[in-house]
Amino acid sequence: MVLLDGKSLSKKMREEIKKEVEGLKKQGVIPGLAVMLVGENPASQLYVNMKTKACEDVGIYSINHRMPKEISEDELISVIKMLNNNPMVHGILVQLPLPPHIREERVIEAIDYKKDVDGFHPYNVGTLSRGNPMFYPCTPFGIMKLFEEYKIELKGKDVVVVGAGNITGKPMSAMLTNADATVQLCHIHTKNLKDKTSKADILISAVGKPHLITQEMVKEGCVVVDVGISKINGKVTGDVDFEGVSQKASYITPVPGGVGPMTIAMLLYNTLKSAINSK
Ligand code: NAD
Repeated sequence: MVLLDGKSLSKKMREEIKKEVEGLKKQGVIPGLAVMLVGENPASQLYVNMKTKACEDVGIYSINHRMPKEISEDELISVIKMLNNNPMVHGILVQLPLPPHIREERVIEAIDYKKDVDGFHPYNVGTLSRGNPMFYPCTPFGIMKLFEEYKIELKGKDVVVVGAGNITGKPMSAMLTNADATVQLCHIHTKNLKDKTSKADILISAVGKPHLITQEMVKEGCVVVDVGISKINGKVTGDVDFEGVSQKASYITPVPGGVGPMTIAMLLYNTLKSAINSK
């Protein structure tokens, strides 16, 4: 069994990004990312802090917009419009989830798709299915980079993606389809999940339910990617029963240290790409 080590691949990528940022600065362009956080959700605060710290480490300029949870949808959108017009800002990220009185779709649609480094704008979601978005969403993009790094062939492989969320499962299945894999996208209403997962050459779980994927549910030699993040007694855990599943898997991501660090690396990559595009 080989660990798909997202921590070390992300470190390597961040070093490369840092060098490119330095080069860009010499040409007078300082890549900038605006991170918007509404309210005080502790998990969101943690993610925002991790993202801004990662920017700092590679020399990307980050602007934090922290707004009270009472902010109106229109006020939030007016801040986004201001950032759309700011040439110092190359990427705009709105940390999700938003408070219930704010319509997520409306906010995401307000972001200039050329600065949509999360890849959630309908323009990028639509062009993703054709295989040429301006930005790929960071989590599935990071998983594709792991496959590339470990030379995991996708063409013709039977892939099962568990979890059909907009952030991971759905874009992941589109990216894998574009890479010529045969993809089955499963979710909470899928019948006989085990029937599907046990036939997969590659299994990706993006649900957020600890121990959802057990040893009996995977094929010998399967490649297993665990996107889920849950906390049990303060300890971060994925969807996969690592101890059991790793005995059958050929490759497997650890949690933490697998997909999470790759997601952040891809955000930096997308911001750098946007800054290069702006020249
Ligand atoms: P989501 O929360 O939008 O959707 C969850 C999906 O799981 C839904 O399609 C639902 O139908 C499905 N589901 C729920 N229970 C199920 C079950 N018992 N069997 C099969 N399917 C089931 O998805 P998301 O935003 O991609 O988040 C999923 C998980 O991945 C969360 O734990 C989140 O924290 C984590 N996540 C991690 C990273 C990272 O960088 N590591 C990035 C994004 C999301």
